[in-house]
Amino acid sequence: QSKEDQQLILMHEFAADMYHHILLNTEEGQAALDYLENRGFTREIIEKNRIGWSLPEWNYMASSLKRKGFTEEELETSGLAIAREQSSGYFDRFRGRIMFPIMNETGKVIAFSGRVLEHTKQEAKYMNSPESPIFQKSQVLYNVHHARSAIRKNRKIILFEGFMDVIAAGKAGVDNALATMGTSLTAQHIRQMKRFAQEVIICFDGDDAGWEAAKRAAISLNEENFKVEVAVLPGKMDPDDYVRDNGAEAFKDQIIGKPHAFIAFAMMHARRHKNFQYENDLLQYIQEVLQLLAGRSSPLERDLYIKQLSVETGLSQEAILQHYRKLE
Ligand code: ATP
Ligand code: MN
Ligand code: MN
Ligand code: MN
Repeated sequence: QSKEDQQLILMHEFAADMYHHILLNTEEGQAALDYLENRGFTREIIEKNRIGWSLPEWNYMASSLKRKGFTEEELETSGLAIAREQSSGYFDRFRGRIMFPIMNETGKVIAFSGRVLEHTKQEAKYMNSPESPIFQKSQVLYNVHHARSAIRKNRKIILFEGFMDVIAAGKAGVDNALATMGTSLTAQHIRQMKRFAQEVIICFDGDDAGWEAAKRAAISLNEENFKVEVAVLPGKMDPDDYVRDNGAEAFKDQIIGKPHAFIAFAMMHARRHKNFQYENDLLQYIQEVLQLLAGRSSPLERDLYIKQLSVETGLSQEAILQHYRKLE
């Protein structure tokens, strides 16, 4: 690790402690603390994840860091401060946001994601640190530091869309949980996951964006020889919503405990927004599923899913199998 990287980590550690202190011990942090309490964050969760609050001031963190002896160049590289365009000096990137530190594998803070208290259309709900020498979004998985031992023990990763979902899953004792930092799953993420386990349960949001992202992630992980399953949420809920509405135990038993096999999920995905009254939809569905089977299935899986296709569509297994042979 270079001297520069060490400095950047020191800055982030300092900033995380300060945000955390402001949230827990000052009057200015009270509204954020109330918000978190409302969302079911206990003191223990706040402390474990080192959650904090950035004051809604233009120059609080920047001047604190300068006072600690960090240079302006370091300030800018860290992304914690932004250079003013019109005049000299710097201002804080994160102002008036709940601060979620992002840790590397050794538990050191390398970046932040900040959430506004009230989400309006004017501001982005989340703001992340920019890329820096110690933070590459395409490589970082949230919660790696905490999850690593649980993943090894379970031999399985539970992959979520957002870090809020990772934190919610923790309430159910689902500790083998990771999330990307709002990007799609990259080859680097997958390589890192491979070091810990060969099995993944994908549990993304129940909205259309979540279904599409889950499909893409499932295909990528399947191609890299993971055993892939997908846990599906009812309606447009995300895991955090589900835990709040139905409790942590139900989440663990009913959602994480009942995942769908990769192909079964892909079939559900292909059925979505299709109406079998229309023959185009029906034929397209069969085509999609058979292509999936031709790509990877064992003879048993092929048999199983062709049977299921026949039941779903009312077409004979023979006709479906004949069509399948042409794709192989
Ligand atoms: P909340 O429950 O607080 O609304 P969420 O986790 O449900 O948060 P989603 O909108 O589902 O948030 O987004 C999932 C993930 O995508 C977030 O954890 C974040 O990493 C990323 N993300 C969402 N919105 C933004 C944004 N405006 N800028 C950057 N990243 C974002
Ligand atoms: Mn989402
Ligand atoms: Mn969500
Ligand atoms: Mn949510």
